[in-house]
Amino acid sequence: MAMRAAMPLARPPAATPEARLADVRARIARACRDAGRDPAEVTIVAVSKTQSAAAIAELMAQGVATFGENRVQEAAAKWPALRAAHPGIALHLVGQLQSNKAAEAVALFDRIHSLDRPSLVEALARAAERAGRAPGLFLQVNIGDEPQKGGCAIAGVPALLARARDAGLPVEGLMCVPPAGVEAAPYFALLAGLAADLGLAGLSMGMSDDLEAAVMLGATHVRPGSALFGPRTVAAAPAASPA
Ligand SMILES: *Cc1c(COP(=O)(O)O)cnc(C)c1O
Repeated sequence: MAMRAAMPLARPPAATPEARLADVRARIARACRDAGRDPAEVTIVAVSKTQSAAAIAELMAQGVATFGENRVQEAAAKWPALRAAHPGIALHLVGQLQSNKAAEAVALFDRIHSLDRPSLVEALARAAERAGRAPGLFLQVNIGDEPQKGGCAIAGVPALLARARDAGLPVEGLMCVPPAGVEAAPYFALLAGLAADLGLAGLSMGMSDDLEAAVMLGATHVRPGSALFGPRTVAAAPAASPA
Protein backbone atom coordinates (compact mmCIF):
# COMPACT_ATOMS: atom_id res chain seq x y z
CA MET A 1 0.00 0.00 0.00
CA ALA A 2 1.34 3.42 -0.89
CA MET A 3 2.21 5.65 2.05
CA ARG A 4 0.78 9.13 2.16
CA ALA A 5 2.43 10.41 5.26
CA ALA A 6 1.02 13.93 5.16
CA MET A 7 -2.62 12.85 4.82
CA PRO A 8 -4.82 11.76 7.68
CA LEU A 9 -5.74 8.11 7.27
CA ALA A 10 -8.99 7.88 5.36
CA ARG A 11 -11.65 5.87 7.16
CA PRO A 12 -13.44 3.28 5.07
CA PRO A 13 -16.88 4.86 4.61
CA ALA A 14 -19.66 3.01 6.42
CA ALA A 15 -22.31 1.69 4.05
CA THR A 16 -25.54 3.11 5.42
CA PRO A 17 -26.62 6.37 7.06
CA GLU A 18 -27.42 4.36 10.17
CA ALA A 19 -23.91 2.89 10.34
CA ARG A 20 -22.27 6.23 9.62
CA LEU A 21 -24.24 7.93 12.37
CA ALA A 22 -23.44 5.12 14.81
CA ASP A 23 -19.75 5.55 13.95
CA VAL A 24 -19.84 9.33 14.49
CA ARG A 25 -21.67 8.92 17.79
CA ALA A 26 -19.18 6.27 18.93
CA ARG A 27 -16.23 8.52 18.05
CA ILE A 28 -17.76 11.39 20.04
CA ALA A 29 -18.59 9.09 22.97
CA ARG A 30 -15.02 7.74 23.08
CA ALA A 31 -13.53 11.23 23.03
CA CYS A 32 -15.95 12.33 25.74
CA ARG A 33 -14.98 9.36 27.87
CA ASP A 34 -11.28 10.17 27.42
CA ALA A 35 -11.92 13.82 28.31
CA GLY A 36 -14.32 13.16 31.17
CA ARG A 37 -17.12 14.92 29.35
CA ASP A 38 -20.81 14.12 28.97
CA PRO A 39 -21.72 13.41 25.31
CA ALA A 40 -24.95 15.35 25.93
CA GLU A 41 -22.76 18.50 25.95
CA VAL A 42 -21.84 17.93 22.29
CA THR A 43 -24.38 18.82 19.60
CA ILE A 44 -23.91 17.14 16.23
CA VAL A 45 -24.53 19.69 13.48
CA ALA A 46 -24.91 17.47 10.41
CA VAL A 47 -23.49 19.52 7.54
CA SER A 48 -25.85 18.80 4.67
CA LYS A 49 -24.48 21.09 1.94
CA THR A 50 -24.96 19.51 -1.53
CA GLN A 51 -27.02 16.69 0.02
CA SER A 52 -30.51 15.85 -1.23
CA ALA A 53 -33.66 16.29 0.83
CA ALA A 54 -34.02 12.50 0.78
CA ALA A 55 -30.57 11.97 2.29
CA ILE A 56 -31.31 14.61 4.94
CA ALA A 57 -34.67 13.03 5.79
CA GLU A 58 -32.93 9.67 6.22
CA LEU A 59 -30.66 11.12 8.90
CA MET A 60 -33.62 12.83 10.57
CA ALA A 61 -35.29 9.44 10.78
CA GLN A 62 -32.20 8.24 12.69
CA GLY A 63 -32.69 11.00 15.24
CA VAL A 64 -30.39 13.77 13.98
CA ALA A 65 -32.12 17.03 14.87
CA THR A 66 -29.57 19.72 13.95
CA PHE A 67 -28.31 20.41 10.43
CA GLY A 68 -25.85 22.86 8.92
CA GLU A 69 -25.72 24.49 5.50
CA ASN A 70 -22.95 26.70 4.15
CA ARG A 71 -24.92 28.78 1.64
CA VAL A 72 -28.08 30.83 2.18
CA GLN A 73 -29.28 30.24 -1.38
CA GLU A 74 -29.01 26.47 -1.17
CA ALA A 75 -30.68 26.43 2.25
CA ALA A 76 -33.53 28.63 1.00
CA ALA A 77 -34.17 26.17 -1.83
CA LYS A 78 -34.03 23.00 0.28
CA TRP A 79 -35.16 23.77 3.80
CA PRO A 80 -38.61 25.35 3.85
CA ALA A 81 -40.17 22.08 2.66
CA LEU A 82 -37.98 19.96 4.95
CA ARG A 83 -38.85 22.12 7.94
CA ALA A 84 -42.57 21.96 7.17
CA ALA A 85 -42.38 18.17 7.02
CA HIS A 86 -40.14 17.82 10.10
CA PRO A 87 -41.02 20.33 12.81
CA GLY A 88 -38.52 20.75 15.61
CA ILE A 89 -35.39 20.50 13.47
CA ALA A 90 -32.72 23.17 14.03
CA LEU A 91 -30.88 24.66 11.07
CA HIS A 92 -27.47 26.33 11.40
CA LEU A 93 -25.53 28.43 8.89
CA VAL A 94 -21.88 27.36 8.94
CA GLY A 95 -20.60 29.21 5.85
CA GLN A 96 -19.71 32.80 5.09
CA LEU A 97 -22.57 35.27 5.05
CA GLN A 98 -22.88 38.32 2.82
CA SER A 99 -24.43 41.34 4.52
CA ASN A 100 -27.09 41.63 1.80
CA LYS A 101 -28.33 38.13 2.75
CA ALA A 102 -28.60 38.91 6.47
CA ALA A 103 -32.39 39.22 6.47
CA GLU A 104 -32.83 35.95 4.61
CA ALA A 105 -30.37 34.24 6.97
CA VAL A 106 -32.21 35.54 10.05
CA ALA A 107 -35.44 34.14 8.64
CA LEU A 108 -33.95 30.73 7.78
CA PHE A 109 -31.48 29.82 10.50
CA ASP A 110 -31.63 29.10 14.23
CA ARG A 111 -27.88 29.67 14.63
CA ILE A 112 -25.28 31.48 12.54
CA HIS A 113 -21.67 30.30 13.03
CA SER A 114 -20.00 32.84 10.75
CA LEU A 115 -20.29 36.33 12.27
CA ASP A 116 -16.84 37.69 11.48
CA ARG A 117 -16.94 41.45 10.89
CA PRO A 118 -18.53 44.69 12.14
CA SER A 119 -20.49 45.34 8.94
CA LEU A 120 -22.22 42.00 9.41
CA VAL A 121 -23.03 42.86 13.04
CA GLU A 122 -24.90 45.93 11.80
CA ALA A 123 -26.69 44.02 9.04
CA LEU A 124 -27.74 41.19 11.39
CA ALA A 125 -28.87 43.62 14.09
CA ARG A 126 -31.10 45.46 11.59
CA ALA A 127 -32.49 42.18 10.25
CA ALA A 128 -33.10 40.79 13.75
CA GLU A 129 -34.91 43.94 14.82
CA ARG A 130 -37.18 43.80 11.79
CA ALA A 131 -37.84 40.08 12.20
CA GLY A 132 -38.40 40.31 15.95
CA ARG A 133 -36.02 37.38 16.47
CA ALA A 134 -32.29 36.82 16.47
CA PRO A 135 -30.51 33.55 15.77
CA GLY A 136 -27.82 32.54 18.28
CA LEU A 137 -24.42 33.58 16.99
CA PHE A 138 -20.90 32.21 16.91
CA LEU A 139 -18.02 34.52 16.07
CA GLN A 140 -15.94 32.86 13.36
CA VAL A 141 -12.23 33.21 14.11
CA ASN A 142 -9.53 32.95 11.44
CA ILE A 143 -7.60 30.75 13.82
CA GLY A 144 -4.73 29.91 11.45
CA ASP A 145 -4.41 33.51 10.22
CA GLU A 146 -4.96 32.38 6.62
CA PRO A 147 -5.47 35.19 4.10
CA GLN A 148 -7.96 33.23 1.97
CA LYS A 149 -10.16 32.18 4.89
CA GLY A 150 -13.18 33.86 6.42
CA GLY A 151 -13.15 34.74 10.07
CA CYS A 152 -12.15 37.58 12.30
CA ALA A 153 -8.45 37.97 13.15
CA ILE A 154 -7.72 36.71 16.66
CA ALA A 155 -6.76 40.18 17.85
CA GLY A 156 -10.08 41.58 16.66
CA VAL A 157 -12.35 39.13 18.47
CA PRO A 158 -12.85 41.06 21.74
CA ALA A 159 -13.90 44.21 19.85
CA LEU A 160 -16.21 42.25 17.56
CA LEU A 161 -17.82 40.59 20.59
CA ALA A 162 -18.34 43.96 22.27
CA ARG A 163 -19.86 45.36 19.12
CA ALA A 164 -22.25 42.45 18.71
CA ARG A 165 -23.34 42.75 22.34
CA ASP A 166 -23.81 46.51 22.02
CA ALA A 167 -26.08 45.79 19.06
CA GLY A 168 -28.12 43.42 21.24
CA LEU A 169 -27.10 40.25 19.40
CA PRO A 170 -26.92 36.98 21.36
CA VAL A 171 -23.35 35.69 20.97
CA GLU A 172 -23.06 32.11 22.21
CA GLY A 173 -19.52 31.14 21.30
CA LEU A 174 -16.65 30.95 18.84
CA MET A 175 -16.24 28.91 15.68
CA CYS A 176 -13.22 28.00 13.55
CA VAL A 177 -12.14 26.04 10.50
CA PRO A 178 -8.47 25.21 11.13
CA PRO A 179 -5.89 25.11 8.32
CA ALA A 180 -6.15 22.02 6.10
CA GLY A 181 -3.51 19.32 6.05
CA VAL A 182 -1.98 19.93 9.48
CA GLU A 183 -2.89 18.74 12.95
CA ALA A 184 -5.98 20.61 14.09
CA ALA A 185 -5.60 20.16 17.86
CA PRO A 186 -3.35 23.20 18.50
CA TYR A 187 -5.88 25.42 16.68
CA PHE A 188 -8.78 23.97 18.66
CA ALA A 189 -6.84 24.58 21.88
CA LEU A 190 -6.20 28.17 20.83
CA LEU A 191 -9.91 28.74 20.09
CA ALA A 192 -10.92 27.13 23.40
CA GLY A 193 -8.52 29.39 25.31
CA LEU A 194 -9.86 32.45 23.54
CA ALA A 195 -13.46 31.48 24.36
CA ALA A 196 -12.56 30.88 28.01
CA ASP A 197 -10.86 34.29 28.22
CA LEU A 198 -14.02 35.91 26.84
CA GLY A 199 -16.39 33.89 29.02
CA LEU A 200 -18.09 32.29 26.02
CA ALA A 201 -19.44 28.77 26.54
CA GLY A 202 -20.03 27.71 22.93
CA LEU A 203 -17.27 26.17 20.78
CA SER A 204 -18.13 25.18 17.21
CA MET A 205 -15.18 23.12 15.98
CA GLY A 206 -14.44 19.70 14.54
CA MET A 207 -15.43 18.29 11.14
CA SER A 208 -15.43 14.69 9.86
CA ASP A 209 -11.68 14.14 10.11
CA ASP A 210 -10.99 15.77 13.46
CA LEU A 211 -14.04 15.22 15.67
CA GLU A 212 -12.06 13.53 18.44
CA ALA A 213 -9.53 16.33 18.87
CA ALA A 214 -12.31 18.92 18.89
CA VAL A 215 -14.33 17.06 21.52
CA MET A 216 -11.23 16.49 23.66
CA LEU A 217 -10.60 20.23 23.58
CA GLY A 218 -14.12 21.23 24.53
CA ALA A 219 -16.26 21.46 21.37
CA THR A 220 -19.95 22.00 22.15
CA HIS A 221 -20.92 21.84 18.46
CA VAL A 222 -19.17 19.52 15.99
CA ARG A 223 -19.84 19.84 12.26
CA PRO A 224 -19.42 16.47 10.49
CA GLY A 225 -20.58 16.35 6.87
CA SER A 226 -19.10 13.51 4.84
CA ALA A 227 -18.75 11.25 7.92
CA LEU A 228 -22.56 11.26 8.13
CA PHE A 229 -23.65 11.53 4.51
CA GLY A 230 -20.77 9.76 2.77
CA PRO A 231 -18.49 11.62 0.37
CA ARG A 232 -20.08 14.62 -1.34
CA THR A 233 -20.68 13.64 -4.95
CA VAL A 234 -21.13 17.26 -6.06
CA ALA A 235 -18.42 19.71 -5.10
CA ALA A 236 -19.80 22.24 -2.64
CA ALA A 237 -19.92 25.69 -4.12
CA PRO A 238 -17.55 27.90 -2.20
CA ALA A 239 -19.32 29.95 0.41
CA ALA A 240 -19.88 33.43 -0.96
CA SER A 241 -17.14 35.91 -0.26
CA PRO A 242 -18.21 38.50 2.29
CA ALA A 243 -19.62 41.81 1.22
C1 LIG B 1 -18.33 21.43 4.63
C2 LIG B 1 -18.15 21.93 6.00
C3 LIG B 1 -18.12 21.06 7.10
C4 LIG B 1 -18.19 19.56 6.96
O1 LIG B 1 -17.03 19.06 6.35
P1 LIG B 1 -16.73 17.48 6.30
O2 LIG B 1 -15.27 17.42 6.03
O3 LIG B 1 -17.56 16.92 5.21
O4 LIG B 1 -17.08 16.93 7.62
C5 LIG B 1 -18.00 21.61 8.37
N1 LIG B 1 -17.91 22.95 8.55
C6 LIG B 1 -17.94 23.82 7.52
C7 LIG B 1 -17.83 25.28 7.79
C8 LIG B 1 -18.06 23.34 6.22
O5 LIG B 1 -18.08 24.21 5.20
